[in-house]
Amino acid sequence: MKAHDGMYIEGEWRPSSGQDTTAVVNPADEEVIAHVPAGTAEDVDAAVRAARNAFRGWASTPSAERAARVAALRDALAARREEFTETITSELGAPTAFARKVQTDLPTAVAGTYAALLETYPFEEKVGNSTVVQEPVGVVGAITPWNYPLHQIVAKAAPALAAGCSVVLKPAENTPLTAQLFAEAVHEAAFPAGVFNLVTGLGPVAGQALVEHEGVDLLSFTGSTAVGKRIGAIAGGSVKRVALELGGKSANVVLPGADLAKAVNVGVANVFANSGQTCSAWTRMLIDADRYDEAVDLAAAAAAKYVPGDPRDPDTRVGPLVSEAQRDRVRGYITRGVEEGARVVAGGPRAPGGLDRGYYVSPTVFADVTPEMVIAQEEIFGPVLSVIKYEDEDDALRIANGTVYGLAGAVWAREEGEAVAFARRMETGQVDINGGRFNPLAPFGGYKQSGIGRELGSHGLAEYLQTKSLQF
Ligand code: NAD
Repeated sequence: MKAHDGMYIEGEWRPSSGQDTTAVVNPADEEVIAHVPAGTAEDVDAAVRAARNAFRGWASTPSAERAARVAALRDALAARREEFTETITSELGAPTAFARKVQTDLPTAVAGTYAALLETYPFEEKVGNSTVVQEPVGVVGAITPWNYPLHQIVAKAAPALAAGCSVVLKPAENTPLTAQLFAEAVHEAAFPAGVFNLVTGLGPVAGQALVEHEGVDLLSFTGSTAVGKRIGAIAGGSVKRVALELGGKSANVVLPGADLAKAVNVGVANVFANSGQTCSAWTRMLIDADRYDEAVDLAAAAAAKYVPGDPRDPDTRVGPLVSEAQRDRVRGYITRGVEEGARVVAGGPRAPGGLDRGYYVSPTVFADVTPEMVIAQEEIFGPVLSVIKYEDEDDALRIANGTVYGLAGAVWAREEGEAVAFARRMETGQVDINGGRFNPLAPFGGYKQSGIGRELGSHGLAEYLQTKSLQF
């Protein structure tokens, strides 16, 4: 596939200071499809300097002009719809329709929301004898994962640029081609040189250099909780602001009286979307004891319709996992679930049949899962659902809140008010009521160890602003 052999720094593609490259692999057939430069600490330094030089000019650009550039970015993303779709299918393995409608169209829409928000956002307010002004934080270091490669970039870069910050992006090593395409869109949208910069490379090298850099004012990271904890600790050393979007183990709570078939079918679809590589996936389904067996049968029947296959085949609903390492990790968890005594009612540790290449796993449903099992506590990041029995509402709440995570969740009930009352008691950042619907303006982020800060909408913009009081 087409790949740039340099970094996008100060408005141009420049060679890396080092010689190393990383390979991009198509997870559906294990073929190497491109190589990109593995950025060095020196490359990161050059990008941060470019961002620093560009910051003042961009920060003082009128918000209407910033809005025009962000709107142009939205248009440039939209113009590359098929290129993003093809790239995300190739480097992530997402089925084509999902790569287009979810992986590409949603982030394009999110970029548009920031152009619109700039028209109304209250950058100044009167408080007694003071004027309180919101100013951009400065240079933003953004580190993103591979699971929604364009969305994760847009969710940081669009609000940061809208706020008047400059950005250095270090994307995931598995999906750098999407990031390069994003940089092309930024270039076409005619942002001033240095306002957005891209350094591809390895997390512990380029990523860590960005985290440690004294010239970065805010580090925004999305990825695993383990790396997030390290980043938070290191960033403290230079008193950087940090925003962390980390893992999840979200509960899908089906209350007695809810439409069971709908809740189970939507719940299974939620967990298997993107091959289960979604941080907000409802990986624990909580069912009352009376309807538990019925729900397990429904979940097994629903899972049988998710047959893994070539992501380019229009009938495919589940593609491969992103990499060999993720495939092995997820299979390891499935084996662990069997060893812990959970009952496999769909899928299981064996590779799906008929696919001799590619990083595929069998979409799996476990019944008889108890809340303390490893598969009910740790984030698996694959198509694996645990169905857990509860005795009464208090028990359901205890189980729902009983992990270190708190990113998302769902509640189903006959009466909406009943679901809302339960949702208010959940320790989590976002809850879908009777199915819910994606809202690009609603804040997204974690309670507990799922993270710090919020993305999307005006809350996402506020992350990139700092507050100054002028006293009169
Ligand atoms: P990861 O933490 O391994 O990598 C994420 C990013 O961090 C990559 O760009 C990587 O290169 C970089 N990185 C790795 N080590 C680093 C280091 N020492 N210093 C600086 N940067 C480093 O995670 P992953 O495997 O790419 O992604 C999967 C994880 O991301 C899952 O746990 C998932 O829950 C989480 N995630 C969270 C959200 C959210 O919004 N909360 C969204 C998507 C993914």
